Amino acid sequence: MGEIAENNMGNMNDEQAGVFFEMVRSELGLDLEFGITPTSPSICLGSKILICENDLQYPWFTKQMILHEITHHLIPNDHTHGSSFHKKYAELVGIFLGGERG
Ligand SMILES: [Zn+2]
Repeated sequence: MGEIAENNMGNMNDEQAGVFFEMVRSELGLDLEFGITPTSPSICLGSKILICENDLQYPWFTKQMILHEITHHLIPNDHTHGSSFHKKYAELVGIFLGGERG
C-alpha cells in the first residue's frame, strides 16, 4: 500500500483517496473500480481508474486527479482533453471540490 513519508505535509494516503473516490462514484451512480498503482501516469481503463501513487499529494491535487480520470470514464471519446472533457470535468470540480465536500 502507498506509504506516506514521515515528512509529508498533508498528503492524502491511499485510503483517503479511496474514500473520496467512493463518495464521487456512489453519488454519480457509476459502475467503476478504483486502485492505486506504482505505475505512472494515473489512467482510466474503461471501468477502472488507477491513480499513480506519485499522485497521492495534497488533497486538492489528488482529488482533481481522481475527478480527471473519472471524467475520462464519462467522456471516453475525448482523449485530447477538449471542450467535451473540460465541460464535464469543470462540472465535477464544481460539485465535488466546492463547499463542504472539497
Ligand atoms: Zn487525461
